[in-house]
Amino acid sequence: VHAWLAHCRPGMESAAAAELDERARAAGIASAYAIARPGEAWLRLVCADPAETAAMNRHLPQDYLFPRQVLREWHWLEGLPGKDRISPIIETLPGGSCFGGLQISVPDSNAGKGLSRFVRAFTPALRRALKDKGIRLDAEGAPVLHLFFPDSTRVAVGSNQDPAEPAGGIQRLRMPSAAPSRSTLKLEEALIRLMTPEERETHLQPGMTAVDLGAAPGGWSWQMVRRHIHVTAVDNGPMAKSLLDSGLLDHVRGDGFTWQPAAPVDWLLCDMVDKPARVAARMGQWLQTGWARRVVFNLKLPMKRPWPVARDLLAELRARAGAGASLRARQLYHDREEITVLILP
Ligand code: SAM
Repeated sequence: VHAWLAHCRPGMESAAAAELDERARAAGIASAYAIARPGEAWLRLVCADPAETAAMNRHLPQDYLFPRQVLREWHWLEGLPGKDRISPIIETLPGGSCFGGLQISVPDSNAGKGLSRFVRAFTPALRRALKDKGIRLDAEGAPVLHLFFPDSTRVAVGSNQDPAEPAGGIQRLRMPSAAPSRSTLKLEEALIRLMTPEERETHLQPGMTAVDLGAAPGGWSWQMVRRHIHVTAVDNGPMAKSLLDSGLLDHVRGDGFTWQPAAPVDWLLCDMVDKPARVAARMGQWLQTGWARRVVFNLKLPMKRPWPVARDLLAELRARAGAGASLRARQLYHDREEITVLILP
């Protein structure tokens, strides 16, 4: 079987399946189909025609929206013996293989949570066994060896490309004690996952200016203020006192859908809870008028079929942002029924 495995947020399996199916079809791969079960937080994309496997590896895009991480599956093993799970896994790997690292993932579900102790105990033993077989994990640029355990008796042995992406797409972040709300983690993750370190350096400089629509109590604004970026926060709700005292934030009580800046700013942030089409249209307006060229916002997607809605809104925004702009979007680990979109000039 030629297959790929995708992690996703629990409950988003059918959205991720719809996306993978459609994108495989768009890449001209007719025989691929996704298999997903609700609530499992993972799914498989199977390629029925082996002749299409190479095309699939070439064309399957990396910029997924709903899949949080996609792995190539080499082997799918079932009925792993409780006493020795390592030997059957090691047997699938040729001695002397070189990998760019090791990742072990479990689903982001209750089943997965129950596996964390097993994974902690298993990982050092596996590393020793790999070493004994002469399998290296320090080859720069090589694919990362990836083991995905849906439960403790089954494993997918495969690979992922980027050693920097967190296993399962689960980006763990510590809640900064000074931040006014947990939402701050959403923006922090967006800046980590959707920008390179070089881009963060270029596009997040002290002295820049930002507008934050739907800013209260200020978790997103705080991410800017801590980088010494001046924020105009638009919200009828109250902002955290620490931000008001920082000297780097102005609070405007107003409607984020009609409020306009007096002059262009460097960044537009938006976390207003409203219809995704309405938010996207307003973001498009900011881009087209040139009020901001860097934009980061959330689209809430509580509907039954979020993939076609998100796909069409993002296509429209790409067009409105212009040819030179780069649009990236993902359902991040800290996102709920929503996606985060970042646009850079
Ligand atoms: N990003 C914020 C943070 O990190 O603390 C949380 C934002 S909260 C999810 C949504 C906010 O949007 C609420 O404070 C609400 O008052 C505001 N909001 C909703 N509709 C708005 C509108 N039309 N204009 C301005 N603010 C709006």
